[in-house]
Amino acid sequence: MPRKAKPTDDRGVPCTIVKLSAKQIGMRSLSMAEMIPDKVLRKEKFATLLQEFLVIFIVILASYLFWHFFISPYTAPVLGMIFDITINTTVAIVISFVVLYFLINPLRQTKFHRIAKIYLDQARCPGCGYTLTAIAPNEDDCIVCPECNAAWNESRLGTPVDS
Ligand SMILES: [Zn+2]
Repeated sequence: MPRKAKPTDDRGVPCTIVKLSAKQIGMRSLSMAEMIPDKVLRKEKFATLLQEFLVIFIVILASYLFWHFFISPYTAPVLGMIFDITINTTVAIVISFVVLYFLINPLRQTKFHRIAKIYLDQARCPGCGYTLTAIAPNEDDCIVCPECNAAWNESRLGTPVDS
């Protein structure tokens, strides 16, 4: 089976999309897209939206069923059916968000090319998020990021627009 080419910068050096901080992940998963102040974050949210919904759906379903079959027989008679279902559902939702929290950065790496383009369109380095405006390109037309040394072809850099 042919292996998928590893994500690289424009000089073929392996590169990964800058990881989101806990604060950014929180903002990204809890707020509406329009409320995220950072334009890049707002746009890249859509690159993994489908996978994120799938993760939430599968984990909620799995933990709901687990509780239903293995925990409810013990808790439902004590708590009552309604209260048991309420706790079951709440726990399932909480677990799904915890799982998504740990999966979000790996998921973003699977969309390397799409997310890299979103960063470059805003003249930001996909590898670290640094703003790459006002940096002269090298002889190979690559702009080298002063923060992480990733090299990006000047022609791929867009003009940052204020949100
Ligand atoms: Zn960089």
